[in-house]
Amino acid sequence: MNNTELWQSVLAQMQFHISKANFATWFQNTEIISKDNEIVTISVPNAFSKEWLSNKYNKLILKTLHDIDDRIKDLAFVIKPQTQKSSTLNISPEKNTVETEQLKFDEFKTNKETNLNPRYTFDNFVVGSFNELAHAAALAVSDNSGFAYNPLFIYGGVGLGKTHLIQAIGNKIADSPKKKKVRYVSSEKFVSGIISAIRNQSIENLKTSLYSIDVLIIDDIQFLAGKSKSQEEFFHVFNSLYEKNKQIILSSDRPPNAIPELEERLKSRFEGGMIADVSLPDYETRLVILKIKLQEKNMELSDDILEYIATNVKKNVRELEGALNRILIYFKTNNNIPNLETSKKLLKGFIFSPFDVANYKKIIETVSKFYNLDEKNIFDPTRRKEIVKPRQIAMFLLRRELKYSFPAIARKFGGKDHTTAIYAYKKILQESEENNKLTEELELIKQRIYSG
Ligand code: ADP
Ligand code: MG
Repeated sequence: MNNTELWQSVLAQMQFHISKANFATWFQNTEIISKDNEIVTISVPNAFSKEWLSNKYNKLILKTLHDIDDRIKDLAFVIKPQTQKSSTLNISPEKNTVETEQLKFDEFKTNKETNLNPRYTFDNFVVGSFNELAHAAALAVSDNSGFAYNPLFIYGGVGLGKTHLIQAIGNKIADSPKKKKVRYVSSEKFVSGIISAIRNQSIENLKTSLYSIDVLIIDDIQFLAGKSKSQEEFFHVFNSLYEKNKQIILSSDRPPNAIPELEERLKSRFEGGMIADVSLPDYETRLVILKIKLQEKNMELSDDILEYIATNVKKNVRELEGALNRILIYFKTNNNIPNLETSKKLLKGFIFSPFDVANYKKIIETVSKFYNLDEKNIFDPTRRKEIVKPRQIAMFLLRRELKYSFPAIARKFGGKDHTTAIYAYKKILQESEENNKLTEELELIKQRIYSG
């Protein structure tokens, strides 16, 4: 076996272990350039591939090589820059393993039957430590719907891939030969459907039609907060599907226990399956996502621009995509690739310093909204628990995020003695160290404050 054949067999193996998207990004333009004694040297196109492969895939590559030839004991990576011309992938061991045909996502239409958008697939979903669990759970559910985890509950901030992931499950199941009936619905649609069915006295019909679904996917279930009639009807639908081992998949911007005004019985149903979060991608993953999105569009940009975007646009994946699109639109309309300077100008609106985003108003607004309070109520001088806690959290965040002085915080909260502000700060700080639920809530609130 020569080096090329050896590497081809490694690549063929790797594809079983990682997603197509990650595979295409990290193994493109790699090859074995030498094999002496026990060390195999692999050339990679740039420093990122090198870092990623040696940190993330070193073990797996080595094991695969070792299985083929047990004399191999170690790996080395060297950077061998490529001339950047072709945008096709030339890594596939057999043709078509990675399609060179690029998908034009804009042309996709929502499927009438399932209400799913076919652009959301596992193949173009990038996985990193920030969403590993959610992704693994999603795969398990799509391979064994109704029996792996039921319900599957995915939560996290805006633009972090919840809709993409839950629709990917739906698409995968709908495309499988098992002919399962999949239905995706947003919570808003779900609620308005229930309301109009009640009005038209057709709620039984609606429920009957829901009972025939094999996989029910409801997006942004937090929207059910405070809607007791919808919650009641959903409870029955949930139970009926669950009893028949039909799969239920839910997404939310927060975990079940942090959804305000959600009936206990629903909360406990939601908690009865698998709960997995998606959080913010790190720098390397942001870079992979950019590369995947470029591939999808069959476009190329220089590494310095991609690095600039990945370094500076950190809010969420949606923003990352938005930033990239801004550049691509320039590219299309001017028929030339912007240089780094121009790109920086184009991206001004996407890049914030924390101080531009978090401000007093934003903190009060976000905390009130998170706890389902009217903004003015958060200032109420009451001792009611539902208000005291959000108020203390607001004080805590003013101190933590904006470095407000305690007297300044006290003034904002009706001229209270500043020891009240100190007390609030210390209390939240201490509790968040002991209480995971509070830590999680603070994290979600902060994510929101910083994500516009
Ligand atoms: P959410 O529902 O959490 O608000 P979306 O699923 O709508 O977020 O994601 C926003 C955009 O970012 C979509 O275009 C989606 O395809 C993209 N996106 C999010 N996460 C990923 C990921 N891990 N890999 C690839 N694209 C992603
Ligand atoms: Mg969504």
